[in-house]
Amino acid sequence: MGKKKECPNCATEIPEESKVCYICGYEFPQHKTKGKVFWIAGIVLLILFMLSLVKFLFGIFR
Ligand SMILES: [Zn+2]
Repeated sequence: MGKKKECPNCATEIPEESKVCYICGYEFPQHKTKGKVFWIAGIVLLILFMLSLVKFLFGIFR
């Protein structure tokens, strides 16, 4: 709390947690959270792929 960031559009200092500038309405990009979601989805897909691969291999050896 109390941290501030500068709006790249109008150079006004606004609170760090703000997603939109209250002066000009500039919307700050939210790439960080989006990237995290994609990472988690990728890891889950990788685990599912590996599980199916293990199942496939066990199917061969049986
Ligand atoms: Zn602004």
